[in-house]
Formats: sequence, structure tokens, C-alpha cells
Amino acid sequence: MKKVWNLYPGPSILPHEVLVRAQAEMLEFGGYGMSPMEVSHRTKSFDDIIYGSEALLRELLGIPDNYKVLYMPGGGTAQFSCIPLNLMRNKKADYIDTGIWPELAYNEAVRYLDAKYIASSADGGYNYIPKVTPDMVRPDADYVYICGNNTDHGTAFNETNFPDVGDKPLVTDMTSIIGSQEIDVAKYGLIFAGAQKNLGCTGLTIVIIRDDLIQEAEKFVPMMYRYKQFADNQSMYNTPPTYSVYIHYLLLQWFKEKGGLSKMIEDTKKKSGMIYDFVDHSELWNCPVQREDRSPTNVCYNGKTPELEELFLEEAKKEGFEGIKGFGRYKRADQRSVGIRMSFYNAFPMEGAEAFLDFMKRFEEKYS
Ligand code: PMP
Repeated sequence: MKKVWNLYPGPSILPHEVLVRAQAEMLEFGGYGMSPMEVSHRTKSFDDIIYGSEALLRELLGIPDNYKVLYMPGGGTAQFSCIPLNLMRNKKADYIDTGIWPELAYNEAVRYLDAKYIASSADGGYNYIPKVTPDMVRPDADYVYICGNNTDHGTAFNETNFPDVGDKPLVTDMTSIIGSQEIDVAKYGLIFAGAQKNLGCTGLTIVIIRDDLIQEAEKFVPMMYRYKQFADNQSMYNTPPTYSVYIHYLLLQWFKEKGGLSKMIEDTKKKSGMIYDFVDHSELWNCPVQREDRSPTNVCYNGKTPELEELFLEEAKKEGFEGIKGFGRYKRADQRSVGIRMSFYNAFPMEGAEAFLDFMKRFEEKYS
């Protein structure tokens, strides 16, 4: 079997133990006499999986009782619409522009309400997190939206740059960082994340929402986009992506066995820290993202020249490192797109990060 170091931004690496268990249980699991792929969502066996997942997620992330966990389809992208459709009251919402992902969310919001960028880091080519203070938020805004970790620009909101939005509900897209960063759920009105990076495989989206924000949506809003519909039906209004929920359950069990959130955070910092540190001392590479705003999960950096990046990608591939080509759609202030991006989600082993560092050192010796 060919095995590569999977550094793709998502879908991304799953823990080996999870895959082995899924393989072993493919034909029959849990004494239920059928495959997890065959199980009906109207059975006790599936209840065990979905309620078991929710209980574990609550425990691992410290989700308070006044928040609901919803399992929804449609990926993070469907949430770009669900959020305005469900949270609009005054039909005004404020967005923080940190690049491509919040922009896509904003583009959906403008279909339904008056969305406004109240802060932006476009002037720096999205290489920092703009400061947000309560006076910037419109008094009648229904919510403030941030992308907690921008997968494509390598920036993250954290304790040092956390937005102060006063008493407005703060909505965050934690797709590429949930489970790898400290989290105080009570600071948010709504948190969402696609499962395919840190919480399982594709097909499942996790929404954590404060009870008071779940209200009846306007008449035109489709049933499948209504938070209340999902909350009232324990996320089983229609057939949920049952196999994805099963993988999510296995993933959460692995997460707990490996030491829980604090251990994941520690390992993530270590993996990305060694690469940032090397880049900061390198003659060939430069990380344009301001230090305090750097993502712990998506490490982005540029080479001296685009040709050097091409060579690096080629040599990395030969050594089995895949998925490190940076994101090309946006140009940074220096007119370069993001050259290299490595995604260090929880399932990516420390030994893979060490092997990559070793490769970088050899590359540096050869070409500097
Ligand atoms: N938000 C972020 C931060 C992402 O990185 C992605 C996907 N890479 C999405 C949203 C969109 O998720 P999906 O493709 O599952 O709709």
C-alpha cells in the first residue's frame, strides 16, 4: 500500500486507528448485526452513535448546557446561508473581512440582508487579523461574523486578537481549527465547522448555537436550512449522513483517548511551531503573516521565487509529502499568491512534521 504524508487542507488525514477500526467494523459493528453503513437513523443503534457523539463533543469542547449541537448537511458553505436566514431580525449583519472564506459567507448574506464589512485586512494582503472594538459594530446589527481560522491565508483569531463585539452575538467559522485551539464556547452565539478536517469525514457539519438564537425563521426559508427544525428533531428531521456521523463518533473517541483538547492544542503548536521557526530563520522562505495572528493549523509561507516553490513542491512530492501547494486565488500585498501551505490537523502525526522539517533542512542546504 502506498502511504503518503497527507498535508491537504481538507478533506484531510484521518487517524490511522480510526480507519483501522472502521475497516474492522465495516461488515458488523457494536453487536447490532449490520454494517454502520446500513444502519437506519430510526433505530436504537443510530441513537447510540449520534447521542454518543454529541455527549463526547460537549465533554471535549466544554459546551455549556444552554447551547444546542446540531448535525447538519451542506458543509460550511451551506452555513454561509443558514446564518443570515436564521439569525436575521433587523436584517443587518456585520462581517470581518480576513480573505476568501468570510468573503464567501458575506456574498451569501447580501442576498438576504444588509451585510457590511466593518473591518478588513485586505490592505495587508490578508496577512493579519484586524482589530475589532464595540464602537465599530452597528448598534442594530443582528450578529458579527468572523472566520476563526482562515485556511487559505494562514491567519487565526486567538486570545490576543479576539474581537470585542460588545453584547452582539459573535458567529465564527471554526472549520479548520475546531479541536486544535482553546475555546470558550460562551463567548460565541454560534460556532460552526465542517467535519472533514478535524472532526471526521465529509458530509457532516457541526453547528453549536446558543438556545436564544434558535427561533422560527421566515416563511420562505427551506426546512433543511432551519436551525429550529434541526433542534426540534435532534438533527434527524430527514435522513442524516449516517456513515459520516459514525466516523465522527470514532474520531471523537480517538480524540479523547489521545488526551483530549489540551493535548491536541499542545501537539498542534509543536508541529506548526517547528515549521514557523525554521521559516523565520531561513534564507529561502518567508512567512508574511504577522506572528501573533498566525494559524496553528494552516502554516502558509512563500519562497524567494515562484520557481523555488515549484522545485520544492516537486521534491516534497518525491519524498511523499502531499497537499502543500498554497492557495492561488488571492494575491498578497506583495502580488504573490500563497506559495506553500501545510495543514497540521490533529490526525497528522508528530513524526510527519519532524520528517518534513528534516526535508526542509536538506532543501535549504542544497539551494541556499
Ligand atoms: N470555511 C472554511 C474556513 C474552509 O476552509 C472551508 C473549506 N475548506 C469552508 C468553510 C467550506 O466548507 P465546505 O467545502 O465543506 O462547504
